[in-house]
Amino acid sequence: MTRYLLHYGGQWRDPHGRGVIDVPSPATLVPLGQVPVADSHDVAAAAAAAAAAWPAWRALEPLERGRHLDRFADLIRSRIGRLAELESAVTGRPIREMSAQMSRIPEWLEYFGSIAAGLEGESNRVKGGFVTLTHYEPVGVCALLTPWNHPILILVKKIAAALAAGNTCLVKPSELAPVTPLLLAEWARESGMPEGTINVVTGAGETGALVCAAPEVQMIDLTGGTATGRRVAAVAASRLIPCTLELGGKTPILVFEDTPLEEAVAGALFAAFIASGQTCVSGARFLVAEAIYERFVEAFAAQASRLVVGDPADAKTDIGPVISAASRDRCFAHIESAKANGARLACGGTAPALADALKGGHYVPPTIFADVTPGMRLFREEVFGPVVSVTRFRNEAEALALANDSEFALGAAVWTRDVTRAHRLAGSIRAGVIWVNDHHKNDPRSIWGGFGASGWGKENGWAALKEHMRKRSIIIRTAPRFDDWFGGGSRYG
Ligand code: NDP
Repeated sequence: MTRYLLHYGGQWRDPHGRGVIDVPSPATLVPLGQVPVADSHDVAAAAAAAAAAWPAWRALEPLERGRHLDRFADLIRSRIGRLAELESAVTGRPIREMSAQMSRIPEWLEYFGSIAAGLEGESNRVKGGFVTLTHYEPVGVCALLTPWNHPILILVKKIAAALAAGNTCLVKPSELAPVTPLLLAEWARESGMPEGTINVVTGAGETGALVCAAPEVQMIDLTGGTATGRRVAAVAASRLIPCTLELGGKTPILVFEDTPLEEAVAGALFAAFIASGQTCVSGARFLVAEAIYERFVEAFAAQASRLVVGDPADAKTDIGPVISAASRDRCFAHIESAKANGARLACGGTAPALADALKGGHYVPPTIFADVTPGMRLFREEVFGPVVSVTRFRNEAEALALANDSEFALGAAVWTRDVTRAHRLAGSIRAGVIWVNDHHKNDPRSIWGGFGASGWGKENGWAALKEHMRKRSIIIRTAPRFDDWFGGGSRYG
């Protein structure tokens, strides 16, 4: 078992705090490693390292910062296999899924390095003999707080945008999946990234709170649950610093009768059960047209029952464990509550039979409830596990009303062959990311983020780069003489 240290200022560092966090495999409970709990001294030292590195990093030409990000991307690309294995071991996500996801990680570094070099300011000639200039500039040290479900993907999205914009980073990964973020900091150093650009402190929520309070931090970028988002937003508000919040969801999937059933079911399986339903845009509320409702439920349940639940390290596994005992218990509590509310169990619902080595793991089978109504808890609350609901609708207006009956507004999907309906619904569903005839496609160029209880701000694209910068205005007089108001001038003319 590896005992990790903190990583800041370009080096592994002994922690001042004495606490440690054990990181077990969610599939077997075998210990995988131990990380320190950073205390206030550790956070202060890491924040100071990030602040010390900032002037030199921001002074680099954007092209030069891009070259650093490219070298980092190359090094990650040469180690994708190892990264995927570690990420799979810590999160319990199947190796096939993690290998596919990790293979795209370098793209985020390359993309943000490239667009930062293309960021142009603006200039206007305005009335009265003036030129106005608008410039973007980095904010300084960015606190990046990340969850456990995509420890590397979400971290790299944030790091890439923050660094390309000319900031340095103080990272606090989830206590449940802290290993790969620490390694990433070491790989950044190996790739030649200047020391202090990426600084990682581990610990639980208390460490995250210390990070948010560090005076050097000038912006907070969180991906996490809605309750955490509210706490972090309150701290940002009290400090009057900006924050970006990528929070929870309860994604509706609208399936119309003109979609080929086979395709709708394949899409539903992916939306619901990739990552064991532990993504912020997991298909959670399936809204299905009355004409195909029973056939859809039957086929969806039949195929979900055939998914292979098991060892994440096995390439044939479709569904791994959920991350923790608390997550598993929450999933089964939702299952019991849906049964008690009168929903119809279409598949799953009981702990799967597994090999002896996996018996201690946090396994939840793919579970589908039909006939779920908006009053039921399963329709309203984020499960963050492989437990989903199906609800019937009679017409488009009812489908839209059901889709929008949620405090969340993150992901949504519409399955229809009718292009007019696809556009109508995409324009009216409350969600920040809407897929038509697909699900969970993600690309560095495609902005990502929600509103309502799903937070605010954007990842990906120019929007994310600019969220990590501040925009300033410079007004230059070109008129030969100052228009002297108290000397009879007309400054408002
Ligand atoms: P949490 O909200 O529990 O944690 C997110 C991060 O914030 C962790 O590093 C956590 O530390 C830290 N944290 C907790 N409390 C505080 C605090 N008071 N101040 C500062 N930092 C704090 O989320 P999970 O890790 O459980 O992730 C699951 C959630 O993330 C789900 O709701 C999911 O929907 C959402 N999510 C949203 C995405 C999006 O793009 N919108 C993408 C992926 C997930 P620790 O956990 O160590 O206590």
